Amino acid sequence: MKFIDQINLKGKRVMFRFDFNVPMDSNQNITDDTRIRATLPSLNYALDEGAKVIIISHLGRPKGKKVAELSLAPVAKRLSRLLEKQVLMAGDCCGPEVENMLQQLKPGCVMMLENLRFYKEEEKNDAEFSRKLASLTDVYIDDAFGNAHRAHASNVGITNYVKECGAGYLMKKELNYFHKQLEKPTRPFVAIIGGSKVSDKLTTLVNLIKKVDKLIIGGGMAFTFLKAQGFEVGKSLAEDHLIDQAKDIINQSRILGVKLYLPIDCVIAQNKVADAVTKIVPIQEIYPEWMGLDIGPATITLFREVIANAKTIVWNGPMGVFEIDAFSRGTSAMVHAVASSHALTIVGGGDTDVAVQKTGESDNITYISTGGGASLELLEGKVLPAVAALEKCAGDN
Ligand code: AMP
Repeated sequence: MKFIDQINLKGKRVMFRFDFNVPMDSNQNITDDTRIRATLPSLNYALDEGAKVIIISHLGRPKGKKVAELSLAPVAKRLSRLLEKQVLMAGDCCGPEVENMLQQLKPGCVMMLENLRFYKEEEKNDAEFSRKLASLTDVYIDDAFGNAHRAHASNVGITNYVKECGAGYLMKKELNYFHKQLEKPTRPFVAIIGGSKVSDKLTTLVNLIKKVDKLIIGGGMAFTFLKAQGFEVGKSLAEDHLIDQAKDIINQSRILGVKLYLPIDCVIAQNKVADAVTKIVPIQEIYPEWMGLDIGPATITLFREVIANAKTIVWNGPMGVFEIDAFSRGTSAMVHAVASSHALTIVGGGDTDVAVQKTGESDNITYISTGGGASLELLEGKVLPAVAALEKCAGDN
């Protein structure tokens, strides 16, 4: 794959595919601009090189229709503030208006095109739509890691039609942490996997068990494993149809000599609500009508010990229903433990990223991914379609 700094950008039209799918409140105020800030290294580099910058992205799920609330205009405004430079906003992402605006675009200037998903062709990876987008630029740079696990027109199809393409600095950084660092990790290498269901992360577990020295399983998914070990877990989120797979992973860990850690106590309640009556019980004592919604204090101590000795840690998924204060302690304690460890620490995006932000420890984590789905697919050992497209494009040229 080629990277942005291996391509001559001077005076050329350079189209960036970013993932500007940022959270907004009901008044279209951006509530977290991490994904916008993360693209500044690539943008500043291109502007310093004298490129004419064109930005494309999606936002939300307009399902092929123009939805005013999902316009990228607020993103253009925020980006303009961050870059301290005007960002022109087009009313569309292709067509005559865009072509006219592009003709006026000068080197060192930035123009943002409208939400790609206003066209249903985008998510269908439509060849004609890909060709239209490609016709607007000389160079294509994909820096949308958060969307790299999807095969869409703007990140896969387009690479068949552009003259030159490569990856931006954000893509490079994400691939470095989730690929290189985890392929040859400094050991002990510990993975912490939590979240709701085993079904969502089964492939990740199967892949990671071959690579790690220690595997910590928490969150709702731990209950399927505990059930596989013969514990009664009451109404906890266990997936009975996956008990055999859970047993396989437990056996695999024994064969490979991987230490597997499961919760030894948990916070239980009858309902998943903020004012629920809660109790802390050993795993052996979960009441039949109650459910485990967070790891307990003894588990926190155990997991802390494991984390303290790690040299590389990768973490995806909370330890409990962290959105509700009563069940958030386990996840917060893990954030602090990971943040204060002496390891290289890599956190997947999505919920885990929100949990880290909530505790104010973001600066103490080595790397927090901007793409939950994409980073999870890398942990599953999959090749991301957008990455494969960039590699093919570099090979073809
Ligand atoms: P995931 O998207 O798979 O990482 O799952 C994140 C979700 O898992 C969060 O919304 C949590 O509330 C939920 N979760 C974590 N632990 C539990 C649990 N013990 N029971 C039910 N849901 C849980």
